[in-house]
Amino acid sequence: MQRDRALFVEDGQIVGIEAAGQVPADAELVDLSDLTVMPGLIDCHVHLVFSSSAYALGDVLAENDQQLLLRGVAAARQALGAGITTVRDLGGRGGVTFRLRDAIAAELIAGPRILAAGSPITITGGHCHFLGVEADGEPAVRAAARLQLKSGATCLKIMATGGRMTPGTNPGMAQYSVAELRAAVDEAHRAGVPLAAHALGTPGIRNATAAGVTTIEHCNWLGPNGTVDFDESVAMQMAQQSTGVVPTLVPLKRSAPALREQIMDCMRRMATLGVPIVAGTDAGVSLTPFDSLPGELEIYVADMGLSPLQAIQAATGTAARLLGLDGTLGTLAAGRAADLVAVAGDPSVQIEDVRQVRTVIKGGRTVVDNGIVL
Ligand SMILES: [Zn+2]
Repeated sequence: MQRDRALFVEDGQIVGIEAAGQVPADAELVDLSDLTVMPGLIDCHVHLVFSSSAYALGDVLAENDQQLLLRGVAAARQALGAGITTVRDLGGRGGVTFRLRDAIAAELIAGPRILAAGSPITITGGHCHFLGVEADGEPAVRAAARLQLKSGATCLKIMATGGRMTPGTNPGMAQYSVAELRAAVDEAHRAGVPLAAHALGTPGIRNATAAGVTTIEHCNWLGPNGTVDFDESVAMQMAQQSTGVVPTLVPLKRSAPALREQIMDCMRRMATLGVPIVAGTDAGVSLTPFDSLPGELEIYVADMGLSPLQAIQAATGTAARLLGLDGTLGTLAAGRAADLVAVAGDPSVQIEDVRQVRTVIKGGRTVVDNGIVL
């Protein structure tokens, strides 16, 4: 935390942070002196084309790709208004999220920077098979990863277990072997992109950790027959090799209320063991809108034992590091993109203040002014 600073921005980049003083004659002054300025927030798990309605699955099944694109346009705008200047999209359909990413980068529409996985890789009939990519066996997984990368993916997503959203899949069981997951890990490494593994059940968490994925999504440690089955040796390996966990706790309250307390206990144990906590919401799934990240951070502080500053780091510096973007995003330092969010109050003391977004600057341009998305 620093006070009374001037942050100098040139060509969209931070070029210096100095004691506040004289404004150079040729500089434009943006006065944020009554606010707290943080790095732009990063939501590491969203689905921009999902509706976030109570019937998110039904919506994505019923709507065509043009409708999904319009969903994405609105979702991106909503995220930006909450101070989110970067998202990692972990599952769209038909390349829609690539088009959305490119339109935002070209400043045609408002929205955060997007790392897009395109369609997630899943087994035949597996979790989110309706997003269009099914692959069984090592060569097929490899080919599916390469196809997404060829289509424009800047990250990858693989479904290591079944999911609650997809009827007929088993969240407690592994979908892929370690060898199949390792094929995806290889391809992600070759392309220099992060690989996210969706894993609710312990067998899938175990396989994904052994394969060396970048982050494990949800990580609910579900055992057989609807129990919770934490495996400390796997969590220790995650900590040791810096495999991140993306908890997505906002939708958990609704999707697994009976198990929530036990799952939260697993989250606390992972945090204590030193597993990197990377903020992500699963925004787009039922009743989880695209401005849910502040609520997610509040849960990290209230129920996971993180300090407000650690929660902010989960959505800034730690997130950027796990995504391989720490050279350009996630901290306020010279050489980083000028992605800033200015809020009233001080979220490092009271995390709820992260909701009080006043100004958002992305790549040096003001994109939210006085709480209004421009
Ligand atoms: Zn998801």
